[in-house]
Amino acid sequence: MSAPETLIQMSRALGQPDRRYVIIGEGNTSLRADDETFWVKSSGHQLTTINADGFAQIRFAPIMEMFEHPPADLVEEREILRNARVDGGSAYPSVETSFHAMLLHDCGVQCIAHTHPIPINRLMCSIHAETFAKRRTCPDEAVVCGPESVFVPYIDPGLPLADEIRRRVHTYMDKHGDSPKVVLLANHGLIALAQSPAEALNITDMAVKGAEILWGALAVGGAVFLSEAEVVHLVRRPDEIYRRKLFTSDPAKGEST
Ligand SMILES: [Zn+2]
Repeated sequence: MSAPETLIQMSRALGQPDRRYVIIGEGNTSLRADDETFWVKSSGHQLTTINADGFAQIRFAPIMEMFEHPPADLVEEREILRNARVDGGSAYPSVETSFHAMLLHDCGVQCIAHTHPIPINRLMCSIHAETFAKRRTCPDEAVVCGPESVFVPYIDPGLPLADEIRRRVHTYMDKHGDSPKVVLLANHGLIALAQSPAEALNITDMAVKGAEILWGALAVGGAVFLSEAEVVHLVRRPDEIYRRKLFTSDPAKGEST
């Protein structure tokens, strides 16, 4: 079995040079395959040109086991990742595979897209990083990206980062009773959590737009945010919930408010 075409197409779209979300080998994507396995980008592939060979099918169990019994060092961690491959091939899955596995496993989502967009990292490398995660400037940002994003301070990529993301997404789910749409990593980038590759692309595009808007608002003297009550109202509106469902299956549908 090879990686689904929807995952390949979304990955290439995220890697399009004019989007400027990733360069060289940056970014990685994943999609649940079945109850026990998922597809994730292997190290050494570029999103813009990726094909089925660029993805490995990985078992959840050995990765999730690492969170309970952490490996001694990075060498052991990489060996566990490689041995988690369904086909036992020689290519290494990305070192960021552990957070892909955990988010797919713990958050009830089907698809993950991780990128390093310039507008996002402009803010994530600034004193406004946490504010960008917690606040919303426009209705569509609140609807597509959720009432707030999960903010994670800078942590070395690999299991330590995945562990901290896990702690913070569980705090978010306890508070909101739902999985987050966006996790923002300080000095690093963005993770979109979605029910489909189409939704992961939408979430990434909207988060980038929100970052551009906030950057511009700060540049002209300061941002005016939606209130928490306005954000809660927007994400619960029945017409917005309906529209969100349409976008999940086909991004061409649905009109903007
Ligand atoms: Zn990264």
